[in-house]
Amino acid sequence: MAVTITPEDAPAQPTGINVIVVGAGFGGLTAAIECHRQGHTVSIYESFPELKVLGDIISFGPNAGRIFYRWSHGKIAAKMRALSIDLSSYGFKIHKYDTGEVVAHQKTPPGDPTAPMFNGHRGELHKVVFEYARDELGIPIHLGQKVTKYFEDEKEASIELEDGTKVTGDIVVGSDGVRSRARTLVLGYEDKPKSSGYAVWRAWFSNKDMIADPRTAEFCNNGDTFNGWIGPDVHFLFSTIKNGSDCCWVLTHRDEHDIDESWSFPGKLEDVFKVLEGWDPMCKAIIEKTPSIVDWKLVYRDPLPTWTSKNGRICLLGDAAHPFLPTSAQGATQALEDGVTLAVTLKRAGKENVPAGVRAYQEIRYDRVRAVQKTGETTRDMWHKADWDKVKKDPKSIELPREDWIFQHDAQKHAEQVYDDVVKKFT
Ligand SMILES: Cc1cc2nc3c(=O)[nH]c(=O)nc-3n(C[C@H](O)[C@H](O)[C@H](O)COP(=O)(O)OP(=O)(O)OC[C@H]3O[C@@H](n4cnc5c(N)ncnc54)[C@H](O)[C@@H]3O)c2cc1C
Repeated sequence: MAVTITPEDAPAQPTGINVIVVGAGFGGLTAAIECHRQGHTVSIYESFPELKVLGDIISFGPNAGRIFYRWSHGKIAAKMRALSIDLSSYGFKIHKYDTGEVVAHQKTPPGDPTAPMFNGHRGELHKVVFEYARDELGIPIHLGQKVTKYFEDEKEASIELEDGTKVTGDIVVGSDGVRSRARTLVLGYEDKPKSSGYAVWRAWFSNKDMIADPRTAEFCNNGDTFNGWIGPDVHFLFSTIKNGSDCCWVLTHRDEHDIDESWSFPGKLEDVFKVLEGWDPMCKAIIEKTPSIVDWKLVYRDPLPTWTSKNGRICLLGDAAHPFLPTSAQGATQALEDGVTLAVTLKRAGKENVPAGVRAYQEIRYDRVRAVQKTGETTRDMWHKADWDKVKKDPKSIELPREDWIFQHDAQKHAEQVYDDVVKKFT
């Protein structure tokens, strides 16, 4: 049966560029979808054997929404909207940690429907994007294929799978996450993460016990909510999603323990309660409803000197190139911007000039990513070192920053606009 491809998603003129993407996270999937949109031939190799709904809360800014909205005539964004938090009436309430008083109530600004924001379950949103790439666009996604080696010469790049199979293309995109193997090849050494001095306990659960308790029912009975309790060196963010049916919290605190970047490392509720001694009792009332938690150590990496290999045939993308602190709420969004940019620069460079396209990708992205990464630290420090007298006088000083230079960025337009100038600089 013939597959109908809508004009918007029909690949542009084929470029003949064969792109191999490693990793089917948001970074790898977006790189593949955008390469398809720009006319490249693309396939994905992913180590997980099947699609599973994993993780908990993830955030996408309007600069990601603008990208999703272009897929399938807005249908992908619409599916993601139904799974995401709706704070149009509730906004964000910021509490002082001990008294519990609301010190700031940040309203949700009217959004641009062509650049929506999404906060929802990482696994549920990931499934929407994964199925779009595989089922609607027909991008080959090879699951259960762990990439063990990377090679390149001046003319091509290859990967080797666990069973020894070698796959070759014009370029390999290493979007293999925070523990990237591709990064070792690109750098020529192993980049060791350091403790950032912080960790996050995280949880996602149904509202059943929350609505049974009159102290906490208010968070689930009237639609979606978002509340944050800010204290010295600790912040606790709690949201209810999908019309209050799902509950989610993240608690960032000091932690110098062993580094582990896994998403499934279990944590203990008694440790959470110890950190929250002296806090508003509402925090405990929420946390005690939680069936299980994940303990995620936040690591810090020095900025990589480069994201591209010696011959310009392998590049890093997303978390493999630049892990983010959750307080930036931009980690996944910046991975998306990477994918969009790379697809454009490869098209502009053409098959004969792939290394120039790869170099231009890094040039276009590097400084912006660094600047956005820093916002993760500034927001965390602004909260953890809050001066409560100042906050009383100026409640806005503790609000979550919403910066135009981050949110209004159109990665596709920007890459098209600056490509020629960027390439002139290095040729
Ligand atoms: C299971 C999981 C759960 C997560 N949950 C959350 C969450 O709840 N909240 C949040 O904010 N962020 C979460 N993240 C991280 C978040 O998705 C990323 O920070 C962000 O989306 C950038 O994505 P990425 O594609 O660069 O990296 P990732 O999302 O980490 O994707 C990397 C992909 O590469 C694959 N991979 C790794 N090594 C190999 C290899 N050798 N061969 C083939 N494939 C390989 C991995 O299986 C993974 O699918 C999670 C990531 C994962 C993998």
